[in-house]
Amino acid sequence: MEPCVSANLTGQLACNLQRLKERMARAAHRAGRRVEDIVPVAVTKSVDASVAQALVDLGVRDLGESRPQELWRKAALVQGPVRWHQIGHLQRNKVRRTLPLIYQLHSLDSLRLAERIQQEADALDLTVSVFVEVNVSGEPTKGGFSPEEVAGVLDVLGRLPRLRVVGLMTMAPWTPEPSQTRPVFAALRELRDKLRDGLAPNCPLTELSMGMSNDFEIAIEEGATVIRVGTALFEGIQTS
Ligand SMILES: *Cc1c(COP(=O)(O)O)cnc(C)c1O
Repeated sequence: MEPCVSANLTGQLACNLQRLKERMARAAHRAGRRVEDIVPVAVTKSVDASVAQALVDLGVRDLGESRPQELWRKAALVQGPVRWHQIGHLQRNKVRRTLPLIYQLHSLDSLRLAERIQQEADALDLTVSVFVEVNVSGEPTKGGFSPEEVAGVLDVLGRLPRLRVVGLMTMAPWTPEPSQTRPVFAALRELRDKLRDGLAPNCPLTELSMGMSNDFEIAIEEGATVIRVGTALFEGIQTS
């Protein structure tokens, strides 16, 4: 595919978005899936709020940030019908301020965090949609539960009614050859399929949040229902 080249921000973003959608559609087609069943979250951590605003003005609905303070800041600035996704580690002392702003939390990585969310969501009278983060690759630098822990974690989360456990999330190790990520994504899907039956009503576990700029096509082929894409959307655009 030719790279997008446009003289202005909106033109460049529109072209990058179009490319992303084409690549998503092809990957979905290869897997016999419908592209409508895959939600792209635009990860705006590397760009200014004005770029995030331009995306929203182009019709992008889902925006993600990895640092809660940055999510708070951009959520106050960006106008329009945005669904904000907290995709990076959420510190317990930032739960109260973050919960009212977000649509989904992708990075539930400890039971202490889950208990704090239950407590704060109860006080705020909210239900919070979360993904359980799983460290499939076992890299020590990555957060999340080990695959072996997840069944026990879901037992506990099933008793926290303010949480709605929509699915599992993982990050594959970066590799110059994206197809090498396939076993990681396949393992997350298999884990979800194995655990899905007999869960508490607040744990539908229908979603898989996996795939980033480098590897989203592989993730879609392996069943991703949510992908988190930053760099690929901002090619040719000033990043911070
Ligand atoms: C930054 C980030 C992404 C997006 O990464 P890109 O490679 O820029 O697409 C996705 N998920 C998480 C958790 C991130 O921190």
